[in-house]
Amino acid sequence: MPREYVEALGAKTMSAAQTGTLRRVVSTRMPTKWGMFDAIGFERDAPNGTRGVESALAILMGDLAGGVPLLRIHSQCFTGEVLGSLRCDCREQLEIAMRAIAEEGRGLVIYEYQEGRGIGLMAKLQAYELQDAGLDTVEANHALGFRTDCRDFSLPAAILRDLGIERVRLLSNNPRKAGALAEHGIEVVVRLTCEAAPTAHSLAYLRTKKEKMGHALSLPQGNPHAARTGGIEAPLSHQPQETGHG
Ligand SMILES: [Zn+2]
Repeated sequence: MPREYVEALGAKTMSAAQTGTLRRVVSTRMPTKWGMFDAIGFERDAPNGTRGVESALAILMGDLAGGVPLLRIHSQCFTGEVLGSLRCDCREQLEIAMRAIAEEGRGLVIYEYQEGRGIGLMAKLQAYELQDAGLDTVEANHALGFRTDCRDFSLPAAILRDLGIERVRLLSNNPRKAGALAEHGIEVVVRLTCEAAPTAHSLAYLRTKKEKMGHALSLPQGNPHAARTGGIEAPLSHQPQETGHG
């Protein structure tokens, strides 16, 4: 990101702090294996006051004002991203997005701390325990007293407004994310597939997301390792380069 742009972001911090509860608390360089990003940390007071402070990171590359940027809104997945769990596709989706943004040289990931679609790590593990006993991911959340999806995506929408971004190309298989952004005044010009190849451990979970939550997933019936190769949306998926490692 050009130095001028970073300084402009810094200048905007002060005005944002005066107009709303969203606060920029940090901006720093973030070199990654895909290239150099900037990481901006945001906080705001939780709406009902019971959860304290909500926080999220915007991880940016390039001049975001120079066209409609790629965007992924990504929810934290400790099990997939840190432990390398193969029960879900989160880590690969994040890597697909980071790689796609780096290849374009422009775009951003907004990373939210919403483990398990917003239920938290321990409840997510309890939901896994129920899935081990035969429930699917939606039934397990309901059995624990949670909605199917506890996220509302208002924080990423506020961050986009703070960054001056009104139109995005959304990297997501989840139509609900696109709808939620639209409700908050962000135009989703196109939704681009962000589909990881399923594994034997993730296939049932992904089928439930497709069938019960409307996710746009191809999920071939045969070889669970086959990658998506087409569709009405532009595919941006890649075969994992290091499945289950590093
Ligand atoms: Zn996950």
